Amino acid sequence: MYKNLINGEWVEGARTTRNVNPSDTRDLVGEYAQADAAQAREAIAVAQTAFSGWSLSTPQQRFDVLDAVGSEILARRTELGDLLAREEGKTLPEAIGEVARAGNIFKFFAGEALRPGGELMPSVRPGVGVEITREPVGVVGIITPWNFPIAIPAWKIAPALAYGNSVVFKPADLVPGSAWALAEILSRSGLPKGVFNLVMGPGSQVGQTLVDSPLVRAVSFTGSVGTGRRIINSCAARQAKVQAEMGGKNPLVVLDDADLDVAVNAAVQSAYFSTGQRCTASSRIIVTEGVHDAFVEKVLAKLRTLKVDHALKAGTDIGPVVDEKQLAQNLRYVALAQTEGGKLAFGGEVVERDTQGFFQMPALITETTNAMTISREEVFGPVANVIRVRDYEEALATANDTEFGLSSGICTRSLKHATHFKLAAQAGMVMVNLPTAGVDYHVPFGGSKGSSYGPREQGSYAKEFYTTVKTAYTAAG
Ligand code: NDP
Repeated sequence: MYKNLINGEWVEGARTTRNVNPSDTRDLVGEYAQADAAQAREAIAVAQTAFSGWSLSTPQQRFDVLDAVGSEILARRTELGDLLAREEGKTLPEAIGEVARAGNIFKFFAGEALRPGGELMPSVRPGVGVEITREPVGVVGIITPWNFPIAIPAWKIAPALAYGNSVVFKPADLVPGSAWALAEILSRSGLPKGVFNLVMGPGSQVGQTLVDSPLVRAVSFTGSVGTGRRIINSCAARQAKVQAEMGGKNPLVVLDDADLDVAVNAAVQSAYFSTGQRCTASSRIIVTEGVHDAFVEKVLAKLRTLKVDHALKAGTDIGPVVDEKQLAQNLRYVALAQTEGGKLAFGGEVVERDTQGFFQMPALITETTNAMTISREEVFGPVANVIRVRDYEEALATANDTEFGLSSGICTRSLKHATHFKLAAQAGMVMVNLPTAGVDYHVPFGGSKGSSYGPREQGSYAKEFYTTVKTAYTAAG
């Protein structure tokens, strides 16, 4: 039984939940505590008390904690990757990669803790000096989704602590295992009691309590658009800081002059790997007509070689869908795309394997338009559609014709088109001759339009959210 962490103590929840392996539903990963609203309030109060001490901690103390956490995560990447693959369903190499990313993020923010910076400048008035400094915000509520069970918590928790905040962390109900393992490492890192608290439990109770509590001064959320928008509104109403990373409908443009092997690799990688369960997945592939048929043929040839199976089996390219509900959602979108006129060129069906899991073949839907539902809404599964366009201008207009703006990609050998696309793509991240998914840990991450709200996450830009600015004036003499 895995418990919640409140004020440095492991405590039972109001109930428990079963964490089940989506590659094999007979495999129970563990029983995890479920907090209720009262326990969430207790964690918030504890974090509030602990804030006063931690906000005054030295850069060295913060560095030591974060560096130790990063080192342990990196040293245990295979074991933690195994746990992650088992509870979430991405393949073992993908899961180990995610764990390593989490370790590197802690290392990066250990360094950031030593570089708080500040500005000193003369006043416009004689004999007065001005200092501009950054201060921690207070108690930060962190709410994370199931698709990156350790990397997303890491890229929120590490900067929160590095800049002197205390944390109440609520992971996704579906995948509490990696979150618990991270909390366990943090519990031995030298952090004072109550600075970091873990409250596993339902979003409607535990998450909502974090969003509504006047003691929680900032909420960092990643997840669905619907939940994200509700959280943004609630936090704005009580003037709390809020940062939300939500969905995407990320386009990958392939032009006639693209290197087809590069384009096919970028499309298959970002549409289907990690079972398509990435907010940066390219689910809309926009291809100019001169290369459309050859591109589709090559994607189909590649798809025929991919193995869908148990996430921990050697040689698996695509693991299972995370659960039954997500699988049903994927199947609904595949059916709807055909009803609206798309052609199912490959896959999409549920397949059986040696173990009882949620296995779905990657689906490629061709002959689609940008107006169809499949081009408008995030599926969040191994499902992509191809849209045929005349030329670069139509490709760009189609890529931008979406309410989202997270990641946008182009495959081309033309410097002119690549340069123009980087300027004109309405997205927070632009990729040239690369998959739309797969980003570095030391630079900002986030989107425009309906995909994101609030300051950027990751890299040194994270300080914008996790600190507030103070301007102090001193008269000389
Ligand atoms: P949600 O947005 O519902 O969940 C994300 C996080 O928010 C979870 O920790 C969840 O808790 C929590 N939460 C839920 N309700 C509230 C609330 N009222 N107040 C505060 N926190 C809350 O996404 P799901 O995980 O349910 O996934 C649903 C769909 O969202 C997916 O099918 C996919 O389409 C999309 N999605 C998009 C992601 C992205 O990065 N773009 C990531 C994950 C999902 P709990 O787990 O307990 O419900």
